[in-house]
Amino acid sequence: MMTTNTPLPWTNIFLQSHHLPPQEALVRLLETIEEGYGALVLYPSAGEAKALEWLFSADMPANLRAWLQDAGQEEIWKQAYKKQCLMAAPKPACQDHPGELIYLEDDAPTRGVVVFPMTYQGYKLGLLVVCDPKGDAPLTCFSLSQLELLAGYLSLLAFIYSILPEKVHLQNELSALDTQKGEFIAITSHELRTPLGLVLGHATFLREILSDESAKEHVQVIIQSALRIKEIIKTATQADNYQSGTARVRRQEVALGELITRVCKRFAAQAQEKGIVLRTALPALDLIVPGEPEKLEIILNNLLQNALDFTNAGGQVQVALCIKHTEHTEGDYAQISVSDTGIGIPESDLPHIFERFYQVEAHMTRHHGGLGLGLSVVNDLVELHHGRVEVRSQEGKGSTFIVYLPLAK
Ligand code: ADP
Repeated sequence: MMTTNTPLPWTNIFLQSHHLPPQEALVRLLETIEEGYGALVLYPSAGEAKALEWLFSADMPANLRAWLQDAGQEEIWKQAYKKQCLMAAPKPACQDHPGELIYLEDDAPTRGVVVFPMTYQGYKLGLLVVCDPKGDAPLTCFSLSQLELLAGYLSLLAFIYSILPEKVHLQNELSALDTQKGEFIAITSHELRTPLGLVLGHATFLREILSDESAKEHVQVIIQSALRIKEIIKTATQADNYQSGTARVRRQEVALGELITRVCKRFAAQAQEKGIVLRTALPALDLIVPGEPEKLEIILNNLLQNALDFTNAGGQVQVALCIKHTEHTEGDYAQISVSDTGIGIPESDLPHIFERFYQVEAHMTRHHGGLGLGLSVVNDLVELHHGRVEVRSQEGKGSTFIVYLPLAK
């Protein structure tokens, strides 16, 4: 094969245009080869034998175009695939008659047309055809080895573009499912509220009038369970409100240290019951952020509940507050971190952890309750406060969720 050590300009251009669909990349390539023509055959989807279309460079002469089409794609493919690179000359080559396809021996000087089979990971993707404008002259303006490289890049592009539509389709289906799941939860939550109110009202009334202690205990279980359902409905509805963008923040100055102390006190009994040490590490001078106390409490609530849920007896949970100095002109941030020594989160799950309904454990084998909405609510609420949330975790070692909120000016 002919080779040249001088890098050709189109190589660079092609490498820069790797984000283009294969046909555009080909056209760009041909534009850089003086008076060069080319064609690309792409199969409709990876592995399918039936050819979809020929894509020709715009200025390819009609006779050459016709010749390529007449030659029969299957035949060209077979030959090119057998030899890995097919060199052919249309003969006789003249303006009016494109001639017939003549296959040259492997070591013959290349003339006229070079055809590369495009395969990727065993998928048959198409053909790359590069033609010399003069038809019978050797292809001296570029090296075969670089063309081979190009065929490899184009194969990769063709492969990506042939699987991409399937991926997009799958993603659309998934997001439609997510919307349906959200709508289902919104409707059922709404419908459940009235009967649940009645259950709670009547059960509370019964508890008041019953004198039998054992009957009272049974009613108490009904009330507790109904309150738990009410909590779940509240989380589901909140998630829907925050996602739909209807939620607003009624801002006031909030002292974060005070808020953390208040919320942690509420979790003290739960932590003790589970044998977990719950600690706070607060600055001497409290930090003030503009925000809505109830919404900031939900953020901390959800993070603390998870930390306690996913930490075993003997573990530790800590909520710390400090200032995070930034170089941004907008000012400094308050940094709240909730860390635990619990089960941790697998690395592959970390990028999805804030998505709605995402749960690490498979639905049917779960040990923990929850709807997979807690962290998505945290994310939405932090964003409403113009902050951001991060997670660091190591499986088996524990997790730390860090919330940054802009400090009051
Ligand atoms: P859920 O309400 O189901 O807990 P979340 O959105 O709050 O949903 O959390 C999603 C998933 O992230 C949980 O199911 C859990 O697998 C994982 N997770 C969240 N926080 C922690 C944590 N502190 N330690 C380990 N896993 C966690």
